[in-house]
Amino acid sequence: MRIAKRVLEVKPSPTLSIASKAKELKRKGLNVINLSAGEPDFATPDYIISAGICALKENFTRYTDISGMKELREGISQKLRKENGLTYSAEEIIVSTGAKQALYNAIVVLCDPGEEVIIPAPYWVSYPEMVRLAEAVPVVLQTRNFKVDPEELERTITKRTKVFILNSPANPTGVIYRREELKAIAEIIIKHNICCLSDEIYERIIYDGEEHISIASLNDEIKNLTILINGFSKSYSMTGWRIGYAAADKEIIGAMKRLQSHSTSCPNSIAQKAALAALGGNQREVERMRKEFEERRNFLIEKLNQIKEITFPTPEGSFYLFLSHPKISDSLSFAERLLEEEKVAVVPGIAFGQEGYLRISFTASLREIEEGVERLKKFLKNKGGDR
Ligand code: PMP
Ligand code: GLU
Repeated sequence: MRIAKRVLEVKPSPTLSIASKAKELKRKGLNVINLSAGEPDFATPDYIISAGICALKENFTRYTDISGMKELREGISQKLRKENGLTYSAEEIIVSTGAKQALYNAIVVLCDPGEEVIIPAPYWVSYPEMVRLAEAVPVVLQTRNFKVDPEELERTITKRTKVFILNSPANPTGVIYRREELKAIAEIIIKHNICCLSDEIYERIIYDGEEHISIASLNDEIKNLTILINGFSKSYSMTGWRIGYAAADKEIIGAMKRLQSHSTSCPNSIAQKAALAALGGNQREVERMRKEFEERRNFLIEKLNQIKEITFPTPEGSFYLFLSHPKISDSLSFAERLLEEEKVAVVPGIAFGQEGYLRISFTASLREIEEGVERLKKFLKNKGGDR
């Protein structure tokens, strides 16, 4: 059977496929160090699990509102007010099956075929593919120092530009945008009246006492043009529960709701109860995990600094480190050989639109990080990188 062109052109998610290849090798008994997976390795906190069990026992097992339970949307509304200084009513929020579905719905709802979406590189792997699925055009904006230069952003905008995607803290570089930088970007977005899809999924995983600022919180004009995306996967170690959300004006959320009504009907009811408990419960667990990521980041940096010629931006947030080395020219073959020969799984930079780099995810124990870096060091020394 002939598959639709729109899907034929879409590549499978490289982050997910490398992570599952690493898991498969581990299952076969190989001593694989998996530094590829972009998911916290901690158990979901107990109080969240209990809420899920309770939902099951109470038979909370039916469809909910299409856009998620009102209580949960109200909880998210309070969270956005308290933590981000943003006012969204429950009608301006939609809960989806992971932030991934929220992003996908937003792109499908906003873009007509042929319209352009500006994506700064290096980018998270799924953005360009989601844009292609909407038959829109991903326009990759190469960055210097891993952040968007507002003047370059302005030069990239055309009559067909519909959306600009902002991801802070960023995957795969870990950079975060400061208030002044966000202000300059917001001015361009307002001037050209385009939408800003602001993916803030890593907002809680942030280091050195830095603060996360949502671009939507700068002023009402930018808020009206922003679709804010967030979720529970990273902050609460809930990747498998699949709960994310979007906040934006009623018209956009209403359109996303219409789309969702025909695709998934609503997010999983049990997971919604768990997400509600996550929001309302003690946030100490979130801080405990964040602290542990910070310790791992510091350890990883210390170890990598012992390898000559490796360079990387210091991750200020998220749990990724994006490194380059003169011997990594073809990052895909480098990563494949590193996995085959040294049994270390990382994601090649090319998957994020930046050749010559590798992404290391520090969602592994200190021991695994240490062993992974030792093997990388050995590989660089003995094999000399690319063939
Ligand atoms: N945005 C970014 C930048 C990500 O790295 C991820 C990876 N999980 C997501 C969104 C989607 O997260 P989820 O669907 O698990 O909520
Ligand atoms: N976002 C994570 C990553 O970048 C999980 C995998 C995915 O959804 O891409 O590794």
